[in-house]
Amino acid sequence: MSKKPNQTKQPNKPNPLRKKAEVQLADAPQAEAPARSAEELLHELQVHQVELEMQNEELRRAQLIIEESRDRYVDLYDFAPVSYLTLTHEALIAEVNLTGAALLGEERNKLINRRFSQFVAPQDRDRFHRYFMFAAQHGDRQYCELALVRGDGAVFHARLDCLHMRAGSGDSLVRIAFADITERKHAEEELRIAAIAFESQQGMIVTDPAGVILRVNQAFTRLTGYSAMEAVGQTPAMLQSERQDKDFYRRMWESLQQKRYWQGEIWNKRKDGKIYAEWLTISAVAAPDGNVSHYVGTFSEITENKEAEAEIHRLAYYDELTRLPNRRLLLDRLEQALAFSKRHLRYGAILFMDMDNFKTLNDTRGHDIGDLLLIMIAQRLHAAVREGDSIARFGGDEFVILLEELSEDVSEAIIQVGQVGEKVQEIIAAPFMLKDMEFNCTTSIGACLFGSHEESVDDLLRHADLAMYQAKKSGGNNLRFYDPAMQATLDERTAIENDLRQALAKRQFRLYYQIQVTSTRHVIGAETLLRWEHPIHGLISPLQFIPLAEETGLIVPIGLWVLHTACAQIKDWSEQPATRYLQLAVNVSPRQFRQPDFVEQIQQALAASGIDPTRLKLELTEGLVLDNVSDTIAKMLAIKALGVGFSMDDFGTGYSSLSYLKRLPLDQLKIDKSFVEDISTDPNDVVIIQTIIGMAHNLSLNVIAEGVETETQLELLNHYGCRAYQGFLFSKPVPAKEFEKLLVQFV
Ligand code: C2E
Ligand code: CA
Ligand code: CA
Repeated sequence: MSKKPNQTKQPNKPNPLRKKAEVQLADAPQAEAPARSAEELLHELQVHQVELEMQNEELRRAQLIIEESRDRYVDLYDFAPVSYLTLTHEALIAEVNLTGAALLGEERNKLINRRFSQFVAPQDRDRFHRYFMFAAQHGDRQYCELALVRGDGAVFHARLDCLHMRAGSGDSLVRIAFADITERKHAEEELRIAAIAFESQQGMIVTDPAGVILRVNQAFTRLTGYSAMEAVGQTPAMLQSERQDKDFYRRMWESLQQKRYWQGEIWNKRKDGKIYAEWLTISAVAAPDGNVSHYVGTFSEITENKEAEAEIHRLAYYDELTRLPNRRLLLDRLEQALAFSKRHLRYGAILFMDMDNFKTLNDTRGHDIGDLLLIMIAQRLHAAVREGDSIARFGGDEFVILLEELSEDVSEAIIQVGQVGEKVQEIIAAPFMLKDMEFNCTTSIGACLFGSHEESVDDLLRHADLAMYQAKKSGGNNLRFYDPAMQATLDERTAIENDLRQALAKRQFRLYYQIQVTSTRHVIGAETLLRWEHPIHGLISPLQFIPLAEETGLIVPIGLWVLHTACAQIKDWSEQPATRYLQLAVNVSPRQFRQPDFVEQIQQALAASGIDPTRLKLELTEGLVLDNVSDTIAKMLAIKALGVGFSMDDFGTGYSSLSYLKRLPLDQLKIDKSFVEDISTDPNDVVIIQTIIGMAHNLSLNVIAEGVETETQLELLNHYGCRAYQGFLFSKPVPAKEFEKLLVQFV
C-alpha cells in the first residue's frame, strides 16, 4: 500500500474562482427571498465561505488521521515481530507480512499465490494439511508446531496459530500467525538431555558456591541412603566418615579453587552408618562473570570398580584354561613363601611337573582333547595337596606345586615332599576319560626344598626345572630332587619303604619284651616292642619304621603279626609255671585301631591262640582315643567284653582330661617316661606325676611308670604312690628267650 500524496496537508489559501462559484450556487435558491442589501449579501457570503473553509479543514484533518492510522496499521502489520500470512481455502498464500516473508526467506511478491505446503518440511506436510483442513472447516483456532523450510533450504521449527476467517466475497481464508521456535526447541532438548544425564547411575550433587546442596539425583539416594528432602539445604559434610583428616579436605578445596576441579577416592558414611568408598569428581561451574555459581559432584561406589578390578586380577594372575594361578601369581606367592620359611625356620618346597606323554596326545588327538586333559589334571592336583599349598599352571603341560610349612627337620621335609610327589604320581596315573577315549598319563617331577639358605625365586625354579629334566632323562614317571644329598635321603627312604613292604614276607620282624615289675620286684608282665632286623642296616628301631608303616598302611598287616605273635607267646608262657600269670602289653597304632574289623581281629587272635584274654593288654595313646571318642569307646567296650585289658600309653603328654578318662573302659595309666626322667630335678614333673597318680586312684585305675632308669626315680615314684614300673633299671627290651632267663633275677 502506497502513501497518499501530501498536497492536502499544505496550508489553505483563498481560491477566488471557487469562491465565485460557491457564491453563485448559494445565490440560486434564495432568488425569491426579500431583497437584501448587497452589503448584507456580501457579508453573508463571506461568513458562509469561512464556515465552508472551516468544514473543509476538519474534513482534511479527519482524512489525515485516518490515513496516518492506516499507515501505522500497515507498519505494524508489516514489521510486527510475528509473522503473518493469509491462506486461501486452497492453502495458497494470499498475503504475507514482511516479517513472515523474511522468515520464509523469500521476497514478498514471490510468495503470493505459492502453495504454503511447499514451505513445510516433507515429514510434517501431512500434519499441516490436517490442521489446515480442520481450521478451514471448523472455523476453529488451531495451534501446531511444524518444521518449515526456508527458501534457502534451511529448516526451522515454527509454531503456527491458525484462525479461520471469511472474506467479504464469502471465501474461506485462514489467517496464520507464526514464529520461529527453533531456539526454544533446542533449549527444551538440552534440558531433557540434562535431566536424563542427571538421573544417571552415578550419584550427583549440585551445590551453591557455599557448598549448600541444591539438588541431588536418585542415584545419590540409592548410594547414600539420604532422600533429596533430607539432603537439600545441608552440605556434603553430612556424608563425612572421618576417615580423611582436615588436610585431605584442605587439599581438595585448594584444587577446586585453583583448577576448579577435584577427583579422587573418598570414604563416606551412609545414612545407616555404613562406611563406603566412592570415586568422586567435583567440578566448579562458572557463571558468565567468571565467579563460581555452582559445584557439581558426581560419584560412584568403588565396590563396583573393585569387582572389575577382581576380574582384571583374575585375567592377569590366573590361567584361562584351568583357572589355576599362572606363573606370575606363583612367582609372587613363592616370594612370600621364601620370606615366611626364613622367618619361621620351616622348610618349603616346589615341585615342577611336566607330563610325560602330553605332546603325543596333543599331536594325535588335537588341542581340544589336550586342553581337556589339562583341565582334568588341574582338578586332580587340587585333591592331592593341602589347603594352604598352591598349584599353578606354568604354560603348556607344566604345573608347579608350592608346598609350605613343611617340617623344620630337613629329612622329614624331604620325606614330606616325597610323599606329595608320590600322591601326585598316583592320581595322575589313574586313567583319564577324554570324551570316548581312556588315556593313561605319567608325570616327571623336579623338586627343590627352600628355607635352609639364601636363594632366589629364579634359582629355585631353575633348579626344580633341571631336576625335572633329570626325572625325564631317567625314564619319566618319577620325582627327582635337585640337591643330590636330598635325593640320597629320599632314595634311602624309598628303599626302606620297599624293604618294609617285604619285611613281613621275609620274616625280618622280631618281638622284644620289656619286663614290668612291682615295688617289691615282683614280675607282673611285659610290654612287647617290635624290632626289624634289616639284612644290611641291622636292627632298626620302631621309632624309624612305625611312622612309615603308618603312612603306607603297612602297619595293618604288621600290627596283626605283632598281635598273633604276642598271643602265641602268651600261650607259650601259660604252659610254664614261671610265666603263667604274666600279662603282655601290645602297642596298637591309630591306623590299626581304626580298621573297621579291629574287634574281630582281636577276637580271631584270641581264638587262634586259645589264650586267657585277661593275659592280653592293649596300649592306646591319647591321640588315638581323642580322634573319634565315641567310636573308640564302642570298640574298647567290645574288646573289654572279651576280657582284654587297656592301658593308656604316654599318659600326661596329651590332653589328660578327666571328663573323657571317665568314659573310657581303661585299666591302667602309663606315666610317660619324660616325667619320670626329670622327677628328681623338675618340681613340675613331680606335680604332674602326683596328679596322674591321684587321678588313677579316683578312677580306680592302676598306674605304671615307664622309663625308670635309676633307684632314685624308683624311690620317688614309690613315695608318690606308684606301684608298677618298667625301664632300663630292670631290663631293656629283650627277645623272649632272654626274657625267660631274666626272670630268675626277680621274684
Ligand atoms: P613306647 O610304647 O612308649 O615304648 C617304650 C619305649 O621306651 C620303647 O622304645 C622302649 O625301648 C623305651 N624304653 C623302655 N625303657 C626305657 C628307659 O628306661 N629309658 C628310655 N630312655 N627308654 C626306655 P622302642 O622299643 O624304641 O619303641 C619306640 C616306640 O615304638 C614305642 O614307644 C611305641 O610307640 C612304638 N612301638 C614299638 N613296638 C610297637 C608295636 O609293636 N606296635 C606299634 N604300633 N608301635 C610300636
Ligand atoms: Ca607302649
Ligand atoms: Ca610309652
